[in-house]
Amino acid sequence: MRILLLGAPGAGKGSQAKMLVEKYKTPQISTGDLLRAAVAEGTEIGKQAQKLIDAGQLVPDAMVLGMIKDRLQEDDAKNGFILDGFPRNQAQAIALDELLETLNWPLEAAILLDVDNEKLVQRITARESCEDCGQMYNLISSPPVNEGICDKCGGKLIHRADDNEETIRKRLDIYVEQTTPLIEYYQYQHKLFKIDGMGEIERIFDSMCKIVENY
Ligand code: AMP
Repeated sequence: MRILLLGAPGAGKGSQAKMLVEKYKTPQISTGDLLRAAVAEGTEIGKQAQKLIDAGQLVPDAMVLGMIKDRLQEDDAKNGFILDGFPRNQAQAIALDELLETLNWPLEAAILLDVDNEKLVQRITARESCEDCGQMYNLISSPPVNEGICDKCGGKLIHRADDNEETIRKRLDIYVEQTTPLIEYYQYQHKLFKIDGMGEIERIFDSMCKIVENY
């Protein structure tokens, strides 16, 4: 499986990617997660990225491209990958195509999770994730059994600093401006599949599985 997930922040890409990882044993590669790990480790990239992430801006293309290039060359990616949050603009999409061509691993599908932008602000401000296993929760629609504690592993639940209303609106604007042109980009390559991302998480996942098993 060599796919990428497209969709606005909060559309459910991370949650669906984690379910795909569990079912198909294919790694999720999230540039957001890679950047947050770099910030937590205090690397040079992390230091440069932090301010931009906190402001809801995109980090420079060269930075994420370097990370993706290294990550795709790790052993587990030989059996496929689920890209989440990358590419975010046309320059990244072109660079990804070039990279995959040199690796001889053409992308098979770009799956768009289509969600109403206004609902997203509500969804994102209510989300928390486990700092240990990454399991995601929504405090309104899918809260954990015990507040602040992961149902799956008992880890601590955290709320991302950039999941506040002001930053979310900025991230949504950037999504509309820079990422939505990729819908046409992948449509043109006949690789775009669209799913309504507003319903039940399990139903969305069923649609996702039908796509990855039939494209
Ligand atoms: P995410 O976890 O995908 O919502 O990403 C969180 C933040 O990381 C974004 O708001 C950007 O600041 C940065 N980021 C993640 N992926 C990319 C990317 N492909 N290009 C540029 N910036 C990114």
